Amino acid sequence: MAYAQWINGEPVACPTTFVVENPATQKPIAEVCSATEQDVDRAVQAAKEAFDDGRWSRLPLAERSLRLFRFADILESHQAEIEKAESLQTGKPLKLIRYSDFPFAVDNIRFYAAAARFLEGNAAGEYNGAHSSWLRREPLGVVAGIAPWNYPFMMAMWKLGPALAAGNSMILKPATLTPLTALMLGQYAKEAGIPDGVLNVLAGPGRTVGDYLVRHRDVQMISLTGDTETGRKIMAAGSARVKRLHLELGGKAPFIVFHDADLDAAVEGAAVGSLVNTGQDCTAATRVYVEEQIYEDFVERLQARFEGVRLGDPMDMHTDLGPLISRPHRDKVSAYVDQAVARGARLVTGGRTPEQLAQGYYYLPTILANVGQDWPVVQEEIFGPVVVVLPFNGETEAIIKGNDVDYGLASSVWTQDVAKALRMSAALRFGEVWINEHLPLTSEMPHGGVAQSGFGHDLSRYSLDEYTMVKHVMADTGLGTVKPWHFTVLGDVPE
Ligand code: NAD
Repeated sequence: MAYAQWINGEPVACPTTFVVENPATQKPIAEVCSATEQDVDRAVQAAKEAFDDGRWSRLPLAERSLRLFRFADILESHQAEIEKAESLQTGKPLKLIRYSDFPFAVDNIRFYAAAARFLEGNAAGEYNGAHSSWLRREPLGVVAGIAPWNYPFMMAMWKLGPALAAGNSMILKPATLTPLTALMLGQYAKEAGIPDGVLNVLAGPGRTVGDYLVRHRDVQMISLTGDTETGRKIMAAGSARVKRLHLELGGKAPFIVFHDADLDAAVEGAAVGSLVNTGQDCTAATRVYVEEQIYEDFVERLQARFEGVRLGDPMDMHTDLGPLISRPHRDKVSAYVDQAVARGARLVTGGRTPEQLAQGYYYLPTILANVGQDWPVVQEEIFGPVVVVLPFNGETEAIIKGNDVDYGLASSVWTQDVAKALRMSAALRFGEVWINEHLPLTSEMPHGGVAQSGFGHDLSRYSLDEYTMVKHVMADTGLGTVKPWHFTVLGDVPE
């Protein structure tokens, strides 16, 4: 059966389909509808009508909130189907979805269901003589949410939650490799009472469907989570109509370990932080900097930890690491490692596909040492289970090396010296700094990058800013036809 797209509250078939495969087996698992330009037009039109007639945008906030809470409950009642489809299309270990992605994503929706009732402008008063001013916080209209393949369900929720809580209508476009769980959402939204046309889901290639959506006259805002290169393309395409953008792009997080850190905790944190989701995570701890006096010890311990990682069937609850998403992606990851080794890097462990897993795009957890700060493996996002470990000497060098990339999403510092941790948290130029930790996020706190990691925020009340506008309304509270300031345009300066 082909997965249909979801437009205006119903499944819609299409003439062309594409096949989704399971990266753990390389076998096809589903046929999916590929949207045409006419489908995009229909979905945007439906979203616009839904927005303009106020069936969602002007629903009493208590009611909007209630329906989002209901949506979260419905997602939970379908957890088994969602987590299975998510694991099959991504190759992600089921335990990661069941105990992390899924509950967190549902919690995000509940957070925004509650936040929907706190959409307020925060000023009212007389700021300019006989005028009263106040602020209205209003939705933007039709927004496009374009999601990546690494956390397809969770990224869809990160966009859908604040966009719908704010009263917008939405077109969600999942990544071509992983559209299944997004395409399931339309039906659940309908069951929750989210009106037809408010949530539409279209699948298809970014360069055609995504690009057409981005350029569409009636799409007011684009929220992308994806590669930095895709962010550049969307900025260029959106510029023709000066679109509002929210870009969550790539990362190359430093993981900085001082000699006074709890070494066991740091080694465990580096393994978990770099291997989560087979390293296909924008916040992954991919650049590990270790202070010289503990460097060799750290590398040895990390090697032992990496060699104990269990690769295998993502559905097996004992599996730690699934495959990479696709063959071209595995080729890209292994090319980075091969090039570094050819240039003189020390391959501490990994660097190849595991013999016992011939099916699927598996790649062994890999550690590279003896690499230069300016090498591609240190500067560029590899998006695989590959870490580089570099030595440093003292706080200043840690800051210089940690900040020395084009990205600015996430970072972490490992030390038992509180004052040093605080100094480092101020000096690191990233949207997120963890202290003696790496990865955890929470619905209440923002997630977003600077520099080539993009701009804008997911999660928290800050994300509502991305999906709303602040409108200033000013009313004259004075009397008189000719206002005291009119002479500056017409008439003489008063005596
Ligand atoms: P990608 O950029 O290839 O694709 C992301 C989405 O953009 C897909 O839906 C794709 O179809 C669409 N797209 C591609 N070209 C387009 C175009 N020209 N116009 C419109 N849409 C287009 O990214 P990916 O490979 O799916 O995901 C991995 C990337 O996402 C990594 O770089 C990772 O760091 C990043 N990411 C960032 C965050 C964050 O919070 N900053 C979170 C997760 C992933």
